[in-house]
Amino acid sequence: MSFFAFLYIVPIFSSPSGSPSPAPFVPREFPGQDEVHAFAQAYPSRITATRVIDDQWALEMDGRWYFWAEGRLLPNEERAQWEEYVSIRFYNYDLGPFEVTQLSPATVARLEAQNPAETFDRRIRFNGFFDSLYQVNSRVSADRVMVRTRILGLSVRVHPLLVDPIRRVNRRVGELVKNNPAIQTFVQSLHQAHGYNWRNIANTLRRSFHSYGTAIDLVPYTYQRRQVYWLWAAQSGIDRWWELPETERWVVPDQIIEAFEAEGFIWGGKWVSFDNIHFEYRPEVIFLSGSLSNK
Ligand SMILES: [Zn+2]
Repeated sequence: MSFFAFLYIVPIFSSPSGSPSPAPFVPREFPGQDEVHAFAQAYPSRITATRVIDDQWALEMDGRWYFWAEGRLLPNEERAQWEEYVSIRFYNYDLGPFEVTQLSPATVARLEAQNPAETFDRRIRFNGFFDSLYQVNSRVSADRVMVRTRILGLSVRVHPLLVDPIRRVNRRVGELVKNNPAIQTFVQSLHQAHGYNWRNIANTLRRSFHSYGTAIDLVPYTYQRRQVYWLWAAQSGIDRWWELPETERWVVPDQIIEAFEAEGFIWGGKWVSFDNIHFEYRPEVIFLSGSLSNK
């Protein structure tokens, strides 16, 4: 900076008395801010308060506080053991048309180093947060809560929270079918919908969102010899399964994915570890990615 520029700037930054002005107030961002607020926005009937406690965001549900705890969402008595749990996944989910993700060299190196077809992931997730959110903590309680509805004409058992969003997905896809033969063909190609199913995620000890009735698989009569699930692709001997082009994957039409995303569902086909028949009700993830549209 030249001497003259210095002279020019000084009056702007000095206070009338000539003493230096205080630094502008920048609110400090505490860990978990975006995620905790996304949950509060997604589940206003369940999450009753949010605030910073001990330099991290926390949320209140049923009179109990859950702390961000490095992405684990733990009650007070579990906070010290946060490393025993895996963090909740938020996925960096991209809204909009599907494209095969271009991975960073570091991610590719990590995928190359592991042999996913033979790996059993023993890490556990703290279930208490989602158990409370969905008011399900066992097979018996889940069986009692689930309701039967129809999705794209197929019978499915799901958590009651999904009934209204599914009704709106049905209405939107119903409109698309009227003047889009490709959408109509896709809907007619579906054979079954699998929602509630008490089980763990394959090759892990972690409860699947199917256990909560908040995930739905749309299963077609045939995959037309295309890949649909990363683990099956890996087990069938495809080494670099994450590079499979879209033409070699069984995919859901973009407009149908959009109809689901607008109601708070994410599509498993957008995950690196793709699961193309899988939709999961994660409105908090959609809020973090952009916003819910058409509501
Ligand atoms: Zn699934």
